[in-house]
Formats: sequence, structure tokens, C-alpha cells
Amino acid sequence: MTRFSHLDFPGRNGLLRRYTRHVPTQRLVADLHLHSRYSMATSRALDLSVMAEAAVRKGIQILSAADFTHPEWRRELGERLVDDGSGLFRLEGPQAKTPRFGPRFVLGTEVSCVWRDPPRSGRGRRVHLLLFAPDFDAVDALIARIEPYGALGSDGRPLLKLSVHDLVGFVMDADERCEVIPAHVWTPWYGLYGSKSGFDSLEDAFGDHGGQIHAIETGLSSDPEMNWGVPELKNRALVSFSDAHSAANVGREATIFEMEPTYDGLVGAIASQSIVETIEFFPENGKYHLDGHRACDVRLTPAESATNGGRCPVCGRPLTLGVLNRIESLSDAAPVEWADRGGPVSGLVSGPASRPPFRRLVPLRDLVAACLDVGKTTKTVARVVDRLVEHCGSELNVLIDADPMELRSAADDKIASAIISVRRGDLAIEPGYDGVYGRIAPRSIPSI
Ligand SMILES: [Zn+2]
Ligand SMILES: [Zn+2]
Repeated sequence: MTRFSHLDFPGRNGLLRRYTRHVPTQRLVADLHLHSRYSMATSRALDLSVMAEAAVRKGIQILSAADFTHPEWRRELGERLVDDGSGLFRLEGPQAKTPRFGPRFVLGTEVSCVWRDPPRSGRGRRVHLLLFAPDFDAVDALIARIEPYGALGSDGRPLLKLSVHDLVGFVMDADERCEVIPAHVWTPWYGLYGSKSGFDSLEDAFGDHGGQIHAIETGLSSDPEMNWGVPELKNRALVSFSDAHSAANVGREATIFEMEPTYDGLVGAIASQSIVETIEFFPENGKYHLDGHRACDVRLTPAESATNGGRCPVCGRPLTLGVLNRIESLSDAAPVEWADRGGPVSGLVSGPASRPPFRRLVPLRDLVAACLDVGKTTKTVARVVDRLVEHCGSELNVLIDADPMELRSAADDKIASAIISVRRGDLAIEPGYDGVYGRIAPRSIPSI
């Protein structure tokens, strides 16, 4: 597939002349939400080489360079990333162990906006946003604008005392080609729509900047199908990324774009929903899927929460309302009964014609650990995963594409069958709630 791309070159007399060329689009797997070792609760090992190696192993071709507002990380990015002329970056330097056609990085980061709405007297708001920039000039222009509002050196994902409306103003001031995507929008405390400190609509949150929001990240506890019924998301892209704080989690969710391999191509694909498919967690596996109280060991469906008046039957305090509950309250589609979800499906889940399909997966390491009934960080699990990746090319290939015979030649029957049963959605599900991850397993193997 090809599309026209317009490139401006300085012509004679210093005038700009417009040339047009064909740039073929490609199907590229992107993970645009991860963190460096400078973010809190992040693996100390997570540097650019480790991120690039993890991407190759997982089957990710475009990944976020992350945390670009952190001064030390910003310096490292400047020293080690080289723009290949497209606005996407290659990793350079002696430690770069990635293959010649290794992953490309995009300059992206996450910030945490914390403010009162209205100012001073109003309700406390806490919203996470992903920001993307076409080049280091834009990054530095943005840093200069937001520096007065937060301690950028204290966390790779800085806390900014700014409303999301004002932040988007600064981002667009820095460079109009920047892109803003609200992160994990349904999580109770830091999601744009979150039950604790979020909003009921993008317009409420962003005001006159609402039109500049082309996409939202659905997060681990929701999948596209759950979002299709939200009216204001009808014309916006639904994207999924890993929010990885360690190399092992890179690519656990991802979005496959049909795009020109350039920064503008990526942003264009987001804005025009040029998405082949998204790769999702089973949303029940996410840690805020249902309602509940972690300390009270209480997990409730939205209907059960309503029966209890939104209060915990053990301690009587307000429940932490999860993602499913919030989506149901903002959606015009009929509620989806969680117990009916995750039933047999043949790989890709397709929806309305205007929506890209998606598939739900369980991370390979979790699956192997469950089959072998050992911890997922054990050497035994690592050995099995390594062998599968060696045979099948990447973890996503193992999970999605690899032929059953190929799987059986690289791992024992139980593991090969588990991978295939996940593709069919044949799982036992114990949904997550109030910060507790869900427990998901193929029906034939013990619970994860
Ligand atoms: Zn976040
Ligand atoms: Zn309680």
C-alpha cells in the first residue's frame, strides 16, 4: 500500500517548493508506553540497549524512548539516539547490540498532571498523559515550558502541577506536530475517566483542546470492545501499549499500525485510525477490572456494587470502582456481563466495520509459569521461553502465529496446548480488582 507524502525542500531564491514522493506504508508493531530506569518502581537495568533487545525479542518494531523530561535520561537519549531522517530514531553506540534493522524509537514520555478543578477550591484531579515529539528541539522547547511546574529530575514520569488543558497548550506551543494521548484512561486514580479523580468527558477535561485528542490508551483492564459503546470515542483511535516498568513486560499490549515508517506517518496513523489490530490483555487480568476493596478481600461486579450502594460490605467505606463500572456508566451499549467474556473466540475479535479488530493474549512468561506451576521469574521459565523464541522468532510470533507443530517441537505438549487454548480464548478467569491483578489460566492447567 502506498500513500503520498509531502516533503518541503528549500528551492532556488530561498523559496519553499513542494515535492511529492511515494512512501510505502508498512505494518509495524508499536509499543509507545514504557519507562526508563529513571521512573519510580522501574527496573534499574532498563536502559536503551535493554529496551531495544526486549523489543526485538518481543516482536516490537517501534517503541517509545520514554521519560524524555528527565534531565539525565534526556542527555542519554541525545547521545545515543540518531534520527534517521524520518523523525524515528536508531540506537547508536558501543553497547547497541540490536540488529542492523533493529527497532526504531519515537521520542515519547508520560507525565502526571495533578491539579484542582476549578483552581484552589475545586476537586482534586490526577491524570496521566502520553506525549510524543518529532525531534529533540520540540522536546527541549516543551521541557523549558513545563519545568516551572514540577521537579523533572525526581521521576522519569514527572508530577506536574498543571491542568491537562494547560499542558496541551504548552505541548502545542512547543511544536504543533506533537501528539497527546491520555494514558490508561479508565484506571481509578490516574485515568482521564477514572472513578476517583477523572472526568466524564474529554471535553470536560481538555476544553477547547479536546479536538486535539485523536486517541486514548485503553489500558490493561479494558479492551476495545468495552470502549466501542462510549459515544465520544466513536471517532477516536483506541490504542494499547504495555506501560512496561521492566524489560519482561515490554510488548504485553501493543498496537499494529499500517503506516509510513516516519514520525509523521506514525502520528498520521494514530489520527486516521490506520490500525491493523491491537494486542490486548484479557481485561479481567488487569488489576482494576471489577470493583472492590483489596484490604477487605472484597470483589464485586458493577451490579453487586450498585446493590450495596457503592459501599464495601465489610468496612462500609466507598468501594474502589473499577474500569468495567466506569465504562458502563459512560457507555450507551448494553452492559457486558463479565462472566460471559473471554469465551471461545477464534483469535481476532472483530467489531463494527469502522473499528480495527483486536486479540486478547496472556504474556508468554505467565503462561509457561502456570503450565509448569513455578514462579514466572524462575530460570526454568526463562529457558522454556528462550527456546520458544529461538524457534518461532519472537514472543508475539509464539503467541499469535506459530504453527502448532512448531510449538510442539520447541516446548512440551502442555505448553503448546496452553498457547493454542489462549488463542481460542479458552480460559478460566478470576477478574482483578482494586490493585489486585486478575488470575487467568487455560481451563486445562492450574490457575496462574
Ligand atoms: Zn500512567
Ligand atoms: Zn472495605
